[in-house]
Amino acid sequence: MSNFAPIPGSTILNSIAGRKMIVMATNTRVTTVARGIFRAAKDTDSAVFMELARSECDLKGGYTGLTPKSFSERVKQAAIDVECDIWALHADHITIKTGESQEIDDTKKLIDGQIEAGYTSFAIDASHLFNFEGKNLREELDKNIRVTTELAKYIEKRMKGKEFGLEVEVGEIGRKDEHGLVLTRPEEAVTFIKALNENGVHPQVLAIANGSVHGNVYDEHGNVIEQVSINIPQTKAVAKALRDNNLKVGIAQHGITGTPRELINLEFPKGDIIKGNVATFWQDIVFNVLKVYEPELYRDMWNWTVETYRPKNPGKKDNQIFGSNCKFAIKQFFDRIYSVDEDTERAIEAMVYAEALVFFRAFSSKGSASLVRERLGETNRR
Ligand SMILES: [Zn+2]
Repeated sequence: MSNFAPIPGSTILNSIAGRKMIVMATNTRVTTVARGIFRAAKDTDSAVFMELARSECDLKGGYTGLTPKSFSERVKQAAIDVECDIWALHADHITIKTGESQEIDDTKKLIDGQIEAGYTSFAIDASHLFNFEGKNLREELDKNIRVTTELAKYIEKRMKGKEFGLEVEVGEIGRKDEHGLVLTRPEEAVTFIKALNENGVHPQVLAIANGSVHGNVYDEHGNVIEQVSINIPQTKAVAKALRDNNLKVGIAQHGITGTPRELINLEFPKGDIIKGNVATFWQDIVFNVLKVYEPELYRDMWNWTVETYRPKNPGKKDNQIFGSNCKFAIKQFFDRIYSVDEDTERAIEAMVYAEALVFFRAFSSKGSASLVRERLGETNRR
């Protein structure tokens, strides 16, 4: 019987290999949303990842005020409450920006904390270490390959033989040059994964830059608009190149918030994309509920955010300044957000539940949890 503890991310991703399914990964910046997500996962027989990025959650609390330990405890409790058994606890964007030894050492300390807290999956993001002076692809990617290898080996050693999920990243998501968003090329993905495999590193999933951005997209009036910039032909081309080279790795779609669900449902190449990250969307639900249920708290968060970030965003409208920076209010107002009354929490849970159902449907993930259970059963019988 399950104790509702997280299972290895690799077990989940390997179980759906070859199926036209996407596993949803949710960044629960306010963990109040976890119960609604788990309930929807359970009711739709969907596997799910619970994750926070290094910026959101680190040993000092990131911008959500959560450490790996407190994040883990909160989502584990939610899984127990709801009796959801097929989920992974994932470290999203373990970002390395310079690759200098101090940063690598600090990263290893973070990884230690995540492993102690029971994480079962890790995303190493060294995509920033792109060498623009490189003479060929291998040289351009060399630093990313070296740092990713070092950290993957470190995780392997510290997990002491326990299985774990591994995501890596090539092409910085949302990076722009003078021509617009820079997309990952198929040969870039192939070169990267081949080199990692040669080094004995075998990720199940690869994050690429394919036209999405993290968080909401705004028009010139500061209003949120739909995100329809994900380049689907390019994504398919990357997946095909990986398959053609016999590289067993799927694609992680980052930055899904704002993408219409009907587009995900009908147009996303499910099976090429195997993991889909939804982050800001859940935070927006929390804030929209607080707006009505906790107007004083909402007003205080609004004022703090706009006053703090207006000087850094000249020319931007207040609603965009708030929308883009309200994530930083989560830590600032941590105690008040986590002491709202039952009615508020019930409304958050209900809205999150309904929206998660629609995402699981759009991702075609129904039945994925059973596939994982079958695989776990086989492993146990061996
Ligand atoms: Zn991301």
